[in-house]
Amino acid sequence: MIDDYPIPIACPYCGSRVIFTSNAVIYGREYGNGRCYKCTSCDAYVGVHNGTKVPLGRLANRELRELKKQCHSLFDPVWKLNISIKREKAYRCLANALGIPMNECHFGWFDRDMLYKALFVLRQPEWYKE
Ligand SMILES: [Zn+2]
Repeated sequence: MIDDYPIPIACPYCGSRVIFTSNAVIYGREYGNGRCYKCTSCDAYVGVHNGTKVPLGRLANRELRELKKQCHSLFDPVWKLNISIKREKAYRCLANALGIPMNECHFGWFDRDMLYKALFVLRQPEWYKE
């Protein structure tokens, strides 16, 4: 299920225009599905779901990208390495701990505050135990 995150028009960090473009402008060559939304002034960007113009989440600057990376490095091993925990259950536990609906529980959607909250949860031992 893909929940549509709104298409970014203006950059939330610097206010400049955001364009839909090739992600070669970021990486030097195209990666994955090759498309992204990119701020025309600063380094904020976000990828899209394959074959669509639907953004993966909010436009991310360096700080947000770093926080998302930290969240995934704590979250992903739980369901990837743990045979008894399915990905869906891991997301459900995190959503419960954050007090948000599961369909809004995507790291790519989180703002800075929510990413810090998620990091706090993910650093608790056995946060995924119900
Ligand atoms: Zn910007």
